[in-house]
Amino acid sequence: MNLFEVADSDRKSQHRNMTEVLEACRIQDLSSTTHLKASRIRSLLNAYRLSKAYEPDSKVAYVVEQFPNELVYALGMIPWNIESMAILLAQYGSADSFINLTQQNHVSRDICSFLRGSFGVIMANCYPNPDIVLANDQPCDCLSKLANVASKYYRSPFFSITTPTELNDDTLDYLAEQQRILVKDMAAALDMEFHESEIDRVVRQSNEAREYYCKTADLLRDHRLPGVSRELLEIFSMNAFGLPENVQLCKTLYQEALEMSNKPDSKKSGKRVLWAGQAPDGSHEIMRYMEEEVEVIFWAPLWSSNIMKLDPDDPYRSIARRAIEYHWHMERLQANLAEVCDSYGIDGIVISNAWGCRNMLALSPMMREVCGEKKIKYLTINVDFIDRNNYAFNHVKNRIDAFLEILM
Ligand code: SF4
Repeated sequence: MNLFEVADSDRKSQHRNMTEVLEACRIQDLSSTTHLKASRIRSLLNAYRLSKAYEPDSKVAYVVEQFPNELVYALGMIPWNIESMAILLAQYGSADSFINLTQQNHVSRDICSFLRGSFGVIMANCYPNPDIVLANDQPCDCLSKLANVASKYYRSPFFSITTPTELNDDTLDYLAEQQRILVKDMAAALDMEFHESEIDRVVRQSNEAREYYCKTADLLRDHRLPGVSRELLEIFSMNAFGLPENVQLCKTLYQEALEMSNKPDSKKSGKRVLWAGQAPDGSHEIMRYMEEEVEVIFWAPLWSSNIMKLDPDDPYRSIARRAIEYHWHMERLQANLAEVCDSYGIDGIVISNAWGCRNMLALSPMMREVCGEKKIKYLTINVDFIDRNNYAFNHVKNRIDAFLEILM
């Protein structure tokens, strides 16, 4: 197989390839780890979006993790997050064959497994071929590179925007202008019509969902709401802000969280641990083991970028602001972490270092500093949730046991 060109870009074959992998791996209990109605709605929404992307007439845009998908929805396209898909497959126990494929093709094992897994799915020709590939160097430039490789692989147009790290008037104008140009370039490349009113529409829908999302995150401060923090993490990862179905999902989660918070025994009690870094799915042995002893709150859904609404009067600039806020900027994340630890009553932090992720390694000293200042216990674990060759539960379990011992 030519490594740099996909052999057959027919979506029907690609769907068949993906189905075969999933069927061969139907060995794991896929039942939801929560009883939330919102989780079931999310699964259905995901399944619908994914199957739609394999239809021949669908317009599919490959995107990276934190791409401003409102721009994609404004053009009526389906964003396909190349990294999240590999994570989803790993949750279903289906990533091994893709990881093996990268090894057979000599892809370096030093690259993080999220990228290797995704690259493996592309090599196996299981993703629907994209009409366009979009990148914005977030959360890391390795993902942009993968997007670029994917565009060559599928011979699709590639567009990328650069997100500055510093937040000021100049950087906001610079990024907002790139986004304006990008939407027009996308429309031109795909011979589509674009109307600015579509941006206004998706921004309204994005904000409506965000309103419920933020109110749910607020309820978590003082209440123990099983499954809710996990669901916020999944909603953040799905990145469907701008879709009307996402409004319904966030509204349902808020209503369920509110109902739980009104129960007399819902007040926060027991020890609370903040999970920082890449997280496995809720049924993973590490999560199940920890959640027997402590309540786990995920940090990423509480980043300031995730609790900000867009400005309907200046959508591009506010999307730019959110994008800059998403950058792993040491000082901004430090301030956010300190605030989250205080307002959510955090007793300990688990710093999850995923194999090959340079970003998390760079952030770890800052997190340890915050823990020192706040007299919070922390544990750093080295894990790999995609490639089973790099992980053994027993190694991590000993460390978790010791951490829980000093926390209690
Ligand atoms: S795990 Fe780290 S290196 Fe890999 S794509 Fe995510 S941020 Fe980038």
